[in-house]
Amino acid sequence: MGLDIVVENLSYFEYFMTLLKGKNALITGASRGIGRAIALRFAQEGANVGFTYLSSAAQAEALQTELESYGVKVKAYQSDASDHAAAEELIKNFTTDFGSIDAVVNNAGITQDGLLIRMSEEQWDKVLNTNLKSVFNLTKAATKIMMKQKSGSVINMTSVVGVKGNAGQANYAASKAGIIGFSKSVALELGSRNVRCNAIAPGFIETEMTEKLDPKTVETWKEGIPMKRGGSAKEVADCVVFLASDMSTYMTGQVLHVNGGMYT
Ligand code: NAP
Repeated sequence: MGLDIVVENLSYFEYFMTLLKGKNALITGASRGIGRAIALRFAQEGANVGFTYLSSAAQAEALQTELESYGVKVKAYQSDASDHAAAEELIKNFTTDFGSIDAVVNNAGITQDGLLIRMSEEQWDKVLNTNLKSVFNLTKAATKIMMKQKSGSVINMTSVVGVKGNAGQANYAASKAGIIGFSKSVALELGSRNVRCNAIAPGFIETEMTEKLDPKTVETWKEGIPMKRGGSAKEVADCVVFLASDMSTYMTGQVLHVNGGMYT
């Protein structure tokens, strides 16, 4: 009985998609892949979404239009997450545009793979700055506001590679392991202010980032996954929704593994 009566005057989205209703969320690196899926799931759940991109302007514009169709406030920002001053400026602009900052998803990330023996200083710096320094930049600026609000959720995108290591990805693994230590420390510092900080560690997720991998490596990875498949960006995004929502208000300092059972 109940359901038909309760939803009679509500659209599907109004009834089911309310986990983030009214929250203002900022997602870095959302023009493609996992970030894009997070932005879509957030808008579907009623969040107002600010998102960043680095160079994919056309994709960002298309995403903005798609997100607006959910009836939420949306703004795209071109901003380099690895640039400290730009990150501070971004948080300032976001807060002016949206009024508050309830969730920050530090998703922007890159790979520049190579065996250590051949890895250049430039490859090391680029990956560490984009993946790890960016998390420091955005978290520091955003949590200043969250502390005043006495609420907020920071969600940092790490990786199974940051937990296990991976040959040919010493720079990427170091950046992702660093994110875990950083997230746990921030959780300890800010727990008493009701500001939470968690990390999500996806396993093998099928996006443009993984399309670059050698197909033989991909097959070996899949064979080693108990669920025998890669994950989708939406499957990661669903977990990010949980960590940004009031479904996880007593959860901080954790790493949520989304990997089809790898290394369990
Ligand atoms: P992707 O498809 O390559 O997308 C990367 C996104 O980051 C793009 O939107 C890109 O913007 C943005 N970006 C790159 N550098 C940036 C910078 N300096 N400032 C702002 N934005 C920047 O990557 P993905 O596979 O979705 O991965 C997303 C996150 O999940 C990354 O942190 C990655 O390490 C992590 N992860 C991925 C996997 C996987 O299997 N795919 C597994 C574990 C963890 P432009 O389009 O403008 O360049």
